[in-house]
Amino acid sequence: MLAPDTLADRRILVTGGGTGLGRSMARRFIELGAVVTICGRRADVLEAAARDLQAELGAEVATEPCDVRDAAAVEAMLDRIWQRGPLDVLVNNAAGNFLAQTHRLSARAVDAVLDIVLHGSAYCTIGCGRRWIDSGRPGTVLSILTLSALHGAPFTVPSAMAKAGVLAMTRSLAVEWGPRGIRLNAIAPGNFPTPDATARLQPAGHVRAPAERGIPLRRVGEHREIADLAAFLVSDMAAYITGEAVVIDGGKRWLGGARSGGEEMLDWTDADWAALRARQPR
Ligand code: NAP
Repeated sequence: MLAPDTLADRRILVTGGGTGLGRSMARRFIELGAVVTICGRRADVLEAAARDLQAELGAEVATEPCDVRDAAAVEAMLDRIWQRGPLDVLVNNAAGNFLAQTHRLSARAVDAVLDIVLHGSAYCTIGCGRRWIDSGRPGTVLSILTLSALHGAPFTVPSAMAKAGVLAMTRSLAVEWGPRGIRLNAIAPGNFPTPDATARLQPAGHVRAPAERGIPLRRVGEHREIADLAAFLVSDMAAYITGEAVVIDGGKRWLGGARSGGEEMLDWTDADWAALRARQPR
């Protein structure tokens, strides 16, 4: 469906593009002709990803070490990117998340998630939007949510709150910036295994089978599938779609009884939670 020049010469920033789904989306955008910048906090991770993508696809990938929680750092990054050439597309993908009983969360733990997802996405989106509007250019923002943004979820409450805020931003700015030619959409993914997400969010300490998770299509998502959806939504093929959140989850949450995830942890003891904390990466 996607022609090899679907994103020809589009300049795209993927936050959190050095790992996981961000990296898979960046890879697909490059295959489709885009000029991609990836950002994240760890310069070595970004450089390794850029090297691998260049070796595989022959395209240069710009790297921007940047902590999106820091508004000044985001502005400086956008200034540097704009000096190379204005962005056409921003993908808000950077995130943090972990399992915890909400009544045990410290303020710092709450802020750790809200700062990356809610504030980071706002800083990047407003920074790009201001530059697009000031120069009369169109633009596109795609934000990666979670299903919990749509229906809530126990034990990952700051993430659900932050992503719900990003969805509200998406819908609000789709209206406010629509007359400026700026589109904003979102993707709410189900389960797409990545090393980090698996380490942080598998409560049983092992990867449960798709059937056990109640996924009607009986498999987890493939990175290529979410990358294709992202490429479509940021391309001109989706020129009349804005303010939308597309669910890609094998039918689990909406059609499979709206289970929010985490139900199996509702009856956990303090000892179960202590065991989980011991297993989680710091
Ligand atoms: P991941 O590999 O952990 O990706 C998160 C990325 O965000 C990392 O590259 C990380 O790099 C970056 N990041 C974190 N904090 C940052 C900060 N303060 N500033 C800049 N970059 C930061 O996890 P993933 O599974 O690919 O997740 C990607 C997105 O998909 C997230 O938005 C996640 O919520 C969403 N999602 C994933 C799944 C899934 O099944 N995988 C399901 C639902 C939603 P550094 O640590 O180097 O900064």
